[in-house]
Amino acid sequence: MYAHFKKIISEVHQGNPVILRSATEQYTLYAAEHINKIAIADTSSKIYVVIGTEQQKLTDEQSEHLERILTAIDETKRGSEGLLLAKANAGIKDFQLPEAAITLCELADFDQIALLIADPVIDADIPQVSLEEVVNYQKTTKQLVHAEVKTQLPTQYGTFDIIAYSDEIEGKEYVALVKGDVSGGENVMVRLHSECLTGDIFGSKRCDCGEQLHRSLEEIEANGNGVLLYLRQEGRGIGLVNKLKAYNLQQQGFDTVEANHKLGFADDLRDYAVAAQIIRDLKIKSVALLTNNPSKIEGLQKYGIQVNGRAEIEIHANEQNIRYLKTKKEKMGHLLKQVF
Ligand SMILES: [Zn+2]
Repeated sequence: MYAHFKKIISEVHQGNPVILRSATEQYTLYAAEHINKIAIADTSSKIYVVIGTEQQKLTDEQSEHLERILTAIDETKRGSEGLLLAKANAGIKDFQLPEAAITLCELADFDQIALLIADPVIDADIPQVSLEEVVNYQKTTKQLVHAEVKTQLPTQYGTFDIIAYSDEIEGKEYVALVKGDVSGGENVMVRLHSECLTGDIFGSKRCDCGEQLHRSLEEIEANGNGVLLYLRQEGRGIGLVNKLKAYNLQQQGFDTVEANHKLGFADDLRDYAVAAQIIRDLKIKSVALLTNNPSKIEGLQKYGIQVNGRAEIEIHANEQNIRYLKTKKEKMGHLLKQVF
């Protein structure tokens, strides 16, 4: 995994250029340590010096280094834009190209000083890396969730360990309900449950979330081992307010997917980076997911979690949620056996 990304790091480390791009912009990136290798005099493009912290917080050695770089660029008299400050310790959500640039320098074992040169020459020999790849690599390899407290929680389904997590990806709080010793476990039964206030708390009949939540806890208890992760992605990631707006649209005859589109959202905005981080923090080697939703399997694999199996968790349709379940099956690829 990440072979291409590791090649990028190696190129930056050796002082070679890489092209760093977002959906709208692209630059040639160098680690500033290699200023001598860069033909600054040959470029008429704008050069940005990106640093990862405020200039006054740099060490003396870093300041001298930065001065040398700025002097070298000034000598070209070709429209240097001076310094661009990347947000040091930026949350992964705030990552833009400057933050990605200094991250690449840091991963290549350099100070957080990068050069970004506009109007890059696109050449098959110069490898390209996207902002998204940098973000995904960080989400996979950097510890971005923190177990804050662990205690016991007796429930009507059984007694679980409950661990509360904070995270640096979404800035929210999560819980993991853990049954048995899962550390080092293979094929551990895991349910990724996305928060649904109306279904989980109020017993809404519009969806099957509440029943799935309770069924999952029963199954984990019966299995004697497993984990339920309670993920804060209300309404498939659109939030509570928008979910309730979508209910109004559903009342007018749109299905759950059409309603999301009408509100300007994709079918499903959920990201499973936090889930993958918690699974890794629990030292689980591989999981068997309790789900009907194949996108959850891909969502975890994307962040390096081995998914070895899937167990279905099918709730019987009622009059209120039959259309919702039918849409999940027909439009979202959910693996439901019921014929609607
Ligand atoms: Zn629900």
